[in-house]
Amino acid sequence: MFTVRNELYRERMDICRRCKYFQAHTQTCGTPVIGETVTYRRKEYHLCGCIMPIKAKLKVASCSVNKWLPTVDRELLMKAKEVLDRLPPEGQRLGRINEEEQIAIHDAYVALTGMKAKRNTCSTCWTKMINRLRTHFDDEL
Ligand code: SF4
Repeated sequence: MFTVRNELYRERMDICRRCKYFQAHTQTCGTPVIGETVTYRRKEYHLCGCIMPIKAKLKVASCSVNKWLPTVDRELLMKAKEVLDRLPPEGQRLGRINEEEQIAIHDAYVALTGMKAKRNTCSTCWTKMINRLRTHFDDEL
């Protein structure tokens, strides 16, 4: 659901493996966990220190120096996260979700899953969608 198709994953990893910042022995972008600050094309960037065979699978992930980009708009996800943070915690009744909040949640879900589901009034569907997004945000944002 939150991972890119195999072809794109391979493209990203090919770019990383050819990159001077890629550490082949640890498979990380720069120093594992810590990363470091580098100058690339006259701009300063901080390398993420991530394990790239894992990070490159994620739709929301992007290269530390923009050699490859996310497939999901991060702003769209942050908007949905703000809405989810305002809602009651998992297990409690959701209450009313206004139109703007519904759009933010729905758009983020569609962008991450690639599903073309229409917005509806099914509360079970909304709860499911919200819980899946929350799990994703806990892991990724
Ligand atoms: S994420 Fe970007 S900077 Fe890091 S190793 Fe891959 S291509 Fe290089």
